[in-house]
Amino acid sequence: MTRKPKSKPTNCPDCHVPPGLLHRRGCDVARCAKTGFQRLGCGHTSNACNTVWAGHWPGDAECIEYGLVLDLGPDAEPMPDLNRLYALCDWDPKQQRMLYRAPLFDAFTTKGTDGVHQILRLADDTRITLTTRPGSPGGIDEVFLWPGLDVPDGDGWNNEDSWELQLTAGDTGQEKGRLFYEVPVNDVRALIARHGGEHPDQTS
Ligand SMILES: [Zn+2]
Ligand SMILES: [Zn+2]
Repeated sequence: MTRKPKSKPTNCPDCHVPPGLLHRRGCDVARCAKTGFQRLGCGHTSNACNTVWAGHWPGDAECIEYGLVLDLGPDAEPMPDLNRLYALCDWDPKQQRMLYRAPLFDAFTTKGTDGVHQILRLADDTRITLTTRPGSPGGIDEVFLWPGLDVPDGDGWNNEDSWELQLTAGDTGQEKGRLFYEVPVNDVRALIARHGGEHPDQTS
């Protein structure tokens, strides 16, 4: 689910490079590739932590993807809420993007669920069930969306099963949910973010 800002890409408002190029020296829009914070004053002395101007303000794409936007009325484009982005997300130097904080989900992703169907309760009291292997190449092997969760749009959610649910309908009480295979980790993370993150109480 890659929701991109709707507005057209522009040149960097400070150093004026076009999209796809590294910022010029001294640009105050540039983010540090190692920390994700402003590069001016990051303390690194080489040019190795310079970043590419993507055509939009750094972090805007993640704000849109995670639903971290300010609603400015029906006629205005939602405005990326960078304050919440930096409060709720951490910089991932590997992917060069902000990742919405989801520690339980991260643990399932890296260690796998060991054959167990792990239920993850989200902050708005919706739930997903995950089954996956450590570092599974297809992303999360199985993601079950409990009733009440809308299916996100985007390519990550194209691989839906309808057969197994018919077999199990009736035993689980979850027959109205939907099961997806091989959903990319970033797409599941975006779903979690859009429901407010992980619920602090996972026991009920
Ligand atoms: Zn720049
Ligand atoms: Zn740096």
